Amino acid sequence: MTSLSPLLKQATPLVVDHALGSWIHATDGKAYLDFTTGIGVTSTGHCHPRVVEAARDQVGKIIHAQYTTVMHKPLLALTEKLGEVLPAGLDSVFYANSGSEAVEAAIRLARMATGRPNIIVFQGGFHGRTVAAASLTTAGTRFSAGFSPLMSGVHMSAFPYAYRYGWDEASTVAFALKELDYLLQTRTAPNDTAAFLIEPALGDGGYLPTPPAFLEGLRERADRHGIQLIFDEVQAGVGRMGKFWGHQYSTATPDIIVTAKGIASGFPISAIAASTETMSKGWPGSQGGTYGGNAVSAAAGVATLDVVREEGLVENSRIRGEQLQAGLKEIQGRFPVIGDVRGKGLMLGIEFTAEDGTPDAATAGAVQQATTAQGLLSLTCGPSGNVVRLIPALVVTAEEISTGLERFEAAV
Ligand code: PLP
Repeated sequence: MTSLSPLLKQATPLVVDHALGSWIHATDGKAYLDFTTGIGVTSTGHCHPRVVEAARDQVGKIIHAQYTTVMHKPLLALTEKLGEVLPAGLDSVFYANSGSEAVEAAIRLARMATGRPNIIVFQGGFHGRTVAAASLTTAGTRFSAGFSPLMSGVHMSAFPYAYRYGWDEASTVAFALKELDYLLQTRTAPNDTAAFLIEPALGDGGYLPTPPAFLEGLRERADRHGIQLIFDEVQAGVGRMGKFWGHQYSTATPDIIVTAKGIASGFPISAIAASTETMSKGWPGSQGGTYGGNAVSAAAGVATLDVVREEGLVENSRIRGEQLQAGLKEIQGRFPVIGDVRGKGLMLGIEFTAEDGTPDAATAGAVQQATTAQGLLSLTCGPSGNVVRLIPALVVTAEEISTGLERFEAAV
């Protein structure tokens, strides 16, 4: 009998029967409050009626046409809708299927646009599992150990992780920018550096918002040295952090942005946006792939962006995120094993620490398991796995947040 790979370790023992909004109804007959959303994907909640309707309608019209051969209406509509939210100057888009592919496409674009080889990434960054994306990932060796050689030309600089450095944010940002300047003087000269690649909040690296001043420092250096600034908004974007894009807490804007996950509520599609000038530096064939920009995914994407706007989900993410974070901070006050509670919007991390302040992955893992028993789905993250992350749907209600907090506290 064929079975799934033994390495696909499930965080819960559940099998889904059906799901709606913030709730997963499992085959054990119980309803679970889902604060994992397929790892930040089902932004409008499970099976939002408008997303379901758009996909259903599209399936009967055309499923796949490959946009370099025949264009279809959903992709034109999605491109127009993205135009309403993309940062100024990023007026050209193409599509892939996943976050990893989009990140790789952005790297290709930056190398072609600058004619330079090297990429600077930041400690704790997660950019995917394909060989090139894993080469750019420093959120733990488990994503690349054992299948070297990785892509060359990748250099890692410090990430301003104030809690772990034990400094205030301003000092940590100043230190991390100095480390970057030093790297540019010693390991990869600006003339050899194509891009800085960074998430607006570390995702798998520990649910840690990137300080706005750090993004602004990167923008200033990118301008000074002609380096492309790439924001990986795969997890942080589409309202997840309480603004449409996670980087909007800063004044910095990217040269290239990549988005996926929440953009189509669960249908696989990713988008890469840049200026037309940058985009034109490639050549036909250097962008896209067989399934990129699938018609059903694109239709779901259009419905998702409509729902996000019309139901005020970015604002809901901010408000419900504040409610969740305030509740978690109260719980932190009652449990010394919680060292840090942080995040923006509905992307919140709870860092578990031992008495001496070192990361405590065993407790985080036990709490994650216990949340399932309490009827709340959560996940862990962080280089050592000591952070429990909560990623509710953007449609989550005040009552659901209160229920989630009760269940989380019972689990701790
Ligand atoms: N970039 C970020 C910030 C992510 O969080 C992820 C996935 O979690 C990826 C890239 C890779 O996306 P995918 O798993 O769709 O390839």
